[in-house]
Amino acid sequence: MTQNTLHIVGGGMAGSEAAWQAANLGLNVVLHEMRPEVETFAHQSGKFGEMVCSNSFRSDDDEQNAVGLLHWEMRAANGLIMATADKHKLPAGGALAVDREAFADHVTATLEAHPNISVEFGEITDLPSDGMWIFATGPLTSPALGEAIAKETGADRLAFFDAIAPIVYAESVNMDVAWLQSRYDKGETEEEQKAYLNCPMTKDQYEAFIDALLAADKTEFHEGETAKYFDGCLPIEVMAERGRETLRHGPMKPIGLTNAHKPEEKAYAVVQLRRDNALGTLYNIVGFQTKMKYGAQTEVFKMIPGLENASFARLGGIHRNTFLNSPTLLDDQMRLKSRPSIRFAGQVTGVEGYVESAAMGLLAGRMAAAELLGRDLPPPPFTTAMGALINHITGGAEAKTFQPMNVNFGLFPPLDGLRGGRKGRKERYKGYTDRAKEDFNQWLEGQS
Ligand SMILES: Cc1cc2nc3c(=O)[nH]c(=O)nc-3n(C[C@H](O)[C@H](O)[C@H](O)COP(=O)(O)OP(=O)(O)OC[C@H]3O[C@@H](n4cnc5c(N)ncnc54)[C@H](O)[C@@H]3O)c2cc1C
Repeated sequence: MTQNTLHIVGGGMAGSEAAWQAANLGLNVVLHEMRPEVETFAHQSGKFGEMVCSNSFRSDDDEQNAVGLLHWEMRAANGLIMATADKHKLPAGGALAVDREAFADHVTATLEAHPNISVEFGEITDLPSDGMWIFATGPLTSPALGEAIAKETGADRLAFFDAIAPIVYAESVNMDVAWLQSRYDKGETEEEQKAYLNCPMTKDQYEAFIDALLAADKTEFHEGETAKYFDGCLPIEVMAERGRETLRHGPMKPIGLTNAHKPEEKAYAVVQLRRDNALGTLYNIVGFQTKMKYGAQTEVFKMIPGLENASFARLGGIHRNTFLNSPTLLDDQMRLKSRPSIRFAGQVTGVEGYVESAAMGLLAGRMAAAELLGRDLPPPPFTTAMGALINHITGGAEAKTFQPMNVNFGLFPPLDGLRGGRKGRKERYKGYTDRAKEDFNQWLEGQS
């Protein structure tokens, strides 16, 4: 093994991008991929960069959309995934959709033809003790490797399913209805005593909400993904199916709370939202993991008093998804704190989606290359989309309730002097994306 060799495990979105970035910086890259020898329930081929479901990289709007901004940053950093997507783009309005076969063929051919990349097919089942490695094995990391990772991190720091409760932008909650209070005012400081946002329901509102939950369209589990979700993270609609009162005695119990707007009125049920990031811009709806379809979720959740006009940073879900508790396990270079020769990248770090995964691969590839070449590479500033994401997974997110995250403007530090709320949104988003582009360019210039 030569000194400048980097091993990357997983030729998906993240591993392919990491290999491309590190190889272009002069490293010898060995890309390990278990497919087609060992299959997953979602992948169909042995190709690199296979899109397992939708053929869309989502919005390509780099002024008004956080994922569009991530596209922009990846293009600026000579990203393989974005260049290939642009080459094999299909008409899709404002979205960046691609011909998936041509896309994966191109990623595969490009990596195989790169003079600094060699490919080794086969499953890696352990965390090696010598050399530098990036593990980008994704949501369907093979069970044997999952076990080896859990042995290193502790089983409680590696999840095999996500249980994502919807996340709401704090500014979109109607505070004339909702109020801040922890149950029984628990906590030493005022901040702790007011750690939750509470949305009250009358009996009629509760009954209508349960009816809507039961009637909503749900997503089925994929084959091979069947529900081992039962311990402690039942979907809310399953709880409602078990009895109309179950939620009122579970996540929606009204006890220990006094409506700050109407102290004399006892709520029949209360929906609680808990802060989801250090900035306080995002709140998750506690215990509301769900398999409802996205359209149904927005309709049903807007029935909650105080959330009539809620904007969602992400909707809920439950999937087979192997991911680390990155805020406690990874440093800001995406290295395992207990084994710094091992980095993680992609969805296994707790980001969610093709674009976010590829972006984390891009960073891991560049960071590993910098380290092997004896250079310093700080993460991008957290005013950028890539910086906001890496900051979230390696420190900004609440470690105790950590669940996979899409890129969204709630992860960005607020801009002073711009109008809040819906009316100021266009100007605010433009402000975020302008600031991000400038800061990202500076970060790139620092590497040349
Ligand atoms: C069923 C399903 C549907 C999804 N649909 C979407 C969608 O529509 N849109 C979206 O944006 N995201 C979707 N995702 C999330 C999607 O998986 C990620 O966005 C993206 O593929 C993650 O990229 P990645 O590189 O981290 O992982 P992957 O793209 O999954 O790549 C990981 C690679 O590692 C390999 N591997 C795993 N274990 C080992 C091992 N031990 N040794 C060697 N190789 C190994 C795998 O074969 C795979 O090639 C979906 C996920 C699943 C499971």
